[in-house]
Amino acid sequence: MPETFVIVGSGQAGAQAAGTLREHGFRGRVILVGDESLAPYQRPPLSKKFLEHLVSVERLYLRSAAYYENHRIELRLHAPVEAIDRAAGRLHLRGGTRIAYDKLLICTGSRPRTLDVPGSQSPDVHYLRTLQDALRLRGKLAPGRRVAIVGGGYIGLEVAATASAAGALVTVLESSDRILGRVTSEKVSRFFAEAHRRRGVDVRCNVRVTAFEAHERLSGVRCDSGLEPADLAVVGVGAVPNAELAQAAGLPCDGGILVDEHCRTADPLIFAAGDCTSHPNALLKRRLRLESVQNAIDQAQVAALNMCGESRAYAEVPWFWSQQYEFKLQSAGMPEGYDDIEERGSARDGSFALLYRRNNALLAVDAVNMPREYMAARKRIAEQGRASPLPGVAGAAACH
Ligand SMILES: Cc1cc2nc3c(=O)[nH]c(=O)nc-3n(C[C@H](O)[C@H](O)[C@H](O)COP(=O)(O)OP(=O)(O)OC[C@H]3O[C@@H](n4cnc5c(N)ncnc54)[C@H](O)[C@@H]3O)c2cc1C
Repeated sequence: MPETFVIVGSGQAGAQAAGTLREHGFRGRVILVGDESLAPYQRPPLSKKFLEHLVSVERLYLRSAAYYENHRIELRLHAPVEAIDRAAGRLHLRGGTRIAYDKLLICTGSRPRTLDVPGSQSPDVHYLRTLQDALRLRGKLAPGRRVAIVGGGYIGLEVAATASAAGALVTVLESSDRILGRVTSEKVSRFFAEAHRRRGVDVRCNVRVTAFEAHERLSGVRCDSGLEPADLAVVGVGAVPNAELAQAAGLPCDGGILVDEHCRTADPLIFAAGDCTSHPNALLKRRLRLESVQNAIDQAQVAALNMCGESRAYAEVPWFWSQQYEFKLQSAGMPEGYDDIEERGSARDGSFALLYRRNNALLAVDAVNMPREYMAARKRIAEQGRASPLPGVAGAAACH
């Protein structure tokens, strides 16, 4: 009997893994099950070009319909998986369907963290994760509309840039003392805060949202500093991993589904990849949960190859990008515990790179409109990591 490999979650990682299985020569059945009704698509444009009407829905799809057919990838869409029966090697789907697996890959991604304050159920309070979310939001962005963005992270700021380019009156409400505070240094935060302010976006820090004032429609966002009038709000306050399915099946989870460097869970027949995983990082000597396309693709490839019996380890430098106005921010590595920052180029000219070092070793780079510096630094971080991988990540239990 040919083997059946099932992938739960038809997003970036799921689609990648299905393709890798086939490209690697796996000849059994490949079933890709997803709860969304669309074939796998890219999310990054949802807060950027798609929101600006610069990209069509067709351009979001990761693969053509013919690809799945030609590669015998069985797509089961609009099919939420409700339980994993590990003893029977079976998935339970909503509506009663059962799917048997020989090996399973969980790629359930993450979902927006919600802001549970009074009024948050208003239809004018938006989150952004799916194409449906983006379509709903896009329909409401118009000149003169007052848009409150709650959270000055990547997604909030990308939406702020798009909304202000569409002529909306945008306010960013950030609870900490600077935007992008979780992901970068003060200099980059300052650069983007100024870029937004120059375009008329009101960036406010140290502001805590306590309620959304909404009756029929949203009228404002209540903050500890007072009432901010708004016609719509977009909440971007982080994401949480979709790990409940794995957890309910008894797989260890701690801020994500725990996998080892082979993307294997505690069950040798079950793998996981992408936003939903907490995985060991050989460079940082600790577990990480990443929300990035790079991580989803790379982990999915490793998981798929290991499902085919190989023994590949996932050890990549994390990298990420963001686009706000004409500025492309590219980041690689993790700027944790740096003792030195070298600046190249000039923030005033809108083209600069910051190189973060500890004990002379390059930890991370943030580059704005400086792709060459970025690529060179990213390569160096990777080479350095390979030359002296940190000990202690041989197994999942070794790193917390
Ligand atoms: C607006 C936006 C902008 C972004 N911009 C960038 C960017 O510029 N650069 C970057 O690197 N990353 C960006 N990201 C992050 C990137 O898109 C994610 O890291 C990536 O999609 C993760 O892939 P994944 O497969 O792990 O999860 P997803 O792509 O989210 O796929 C998971 C899928 O699993 C489904 N699912 C969950 N539970 C079940 C279940 N029980 N049964 C069936 N299906 C289930 C979900 O509905 C979803 O379709 C952005 C994300 C968003 C939302």
